[in-house]
Amino acid sequence: MVPPSPELSSWATNISPSPTLAVDAKAKALKAEGKDVCGFGAGEPDFDTPDFIKEACIQAIRDGKTKYGPAAGLMPLRESIAAKYARDNEVAGVHATQVVVSPGGKYSCTLGIQAVVSPGDEVIIPAPFWVSYPEMVKLAGGVPVILFAGKEQGFKITPEQLRAAATEKSKLLILNSPSNPTGAVYNREEMEAIVEVALELGLYILSDEIYEYLLYDGVEHVSPASFSDEAFARTITVGGFSKTFSMTGWRLGTLVASPSVAKACTSLQSQTTSGPNTFAQYGALAAMERWDQAMAVVKEMLTHFDRRRLKLLNGLNAIEGVDCPRAQGAFYLFADISAFDMAATEFATCVLEEKLVAVVPGEGFGAPGYIRLSYATSDEVIEKGAARLKEFCADL
Ligand SMILES: *Cc1c(COP(=O)(O)O)cnc(C)c1O
Repeated sequence: MVPPSPELSSWATNISPSPTLAVDAKAKALKAEGKDVCGFGAGEPDFDTPDFIKEACIQAIRDGKTKYGPAAGLMPLRESIAAKYARDNEVAGVHATQVVVSPGGKYSCTLGIQAVVSPGDEVIIPAPFWVSYPEMVKLAGGVPVILFAGKEQGFKITPEQLRAAATEKSKLLILNSPSNPTGAVYNREEMEAIVEVALELGLYILSDEIYEYLLYDGVEHVSPASFSDEAFARTITVGGFSKTFSMTGWRLGTLVASPSVAKACTSLQSQTTSGPNTFAQYGALAAMERWDQAMAVVKEMLTHFDRRRLKLLNGLNAIEGVDCPRAQGAFYLFADISAFDMAATEFATCVLEEKLVAVVPGEGFGAPGYIRLSYATSDEVIEKGAARLKEFCADL
């Protein structure tokens, strides 16, 4: 008999698996059985990576760029990212050494959190939140403090809420505009008001701007780091290639931070992943160097996303009991289903089993009573899926 193993670590025991990936896995399994599933679970664009980016990566492999690279990423790529922030985000004066390229925006967030959060520090996370933030904070020994902002306030926290949540232990505020899961976008005035309070409270800000180029209705994206020298010094700006250029599988993310934070992130990265994939970075570099060409592809993608967004929005709001705000960023809608006498998890499970429609329940985003639907899927799926949802809700 093998004696029982010692118990797992407190980290392992306290972390929960990503619920968004779980729904997607279940929907994919049903699909693999040949079932006609309408999937709204996807957390990635349904377009392919632009060819010229792929070609640059393939060429890099042919040229033997297959060895370890610098831990913080290739210098030409970091330089082009610094230039992008000056050009597109009004964040001037970024030195390339303040840019860290990582294996994915998710890991960029992890690094930023690890760099500034000590055990016992409180981290303020507005809800609905991206599922990974609280878990990342817990892995750093930090304590997530959740601030809920429902649809009545456009899924955006107010400066008053932030002030009321702060304590002596508060260390970091996490912002995510445009938001996953809500698609909400803070306008300049709203963002400035939040950042002003955060600075006054002496907080660091992790600004996850991974969806910065996926905007609709003519809204603009604003970067907290652009507001002042102080805001720049205190903000860790996360970006990346996954969502903008349909490069989720490439595993490339970026962060821009003060010299000391960037240096800490580089050390953490060098001791954990050694850095991002070398040849993948050559693909990303092609996107940065041929920016106009890359943006033309993004613009085309956005026309499809926008059309699908409105189609799904109209479909959802035509269902009695469903109320869905008009999201203006990313590729998600976040619908209120609290009118039904049913938890969101149960709603999602039943609608998948009975109508083969995959949606993500709100509980994992800190928002029971809501479901997330991704419109990174075809027009046909949106039409069929919305009709099935309507049937499902009519029977409740
Ligand atoms: C997708 C996503 C990321 C990063 O994704 P990677 O695939 O790791 O680059 C970061 N933040 C949010 C909110 C996301 O939805």
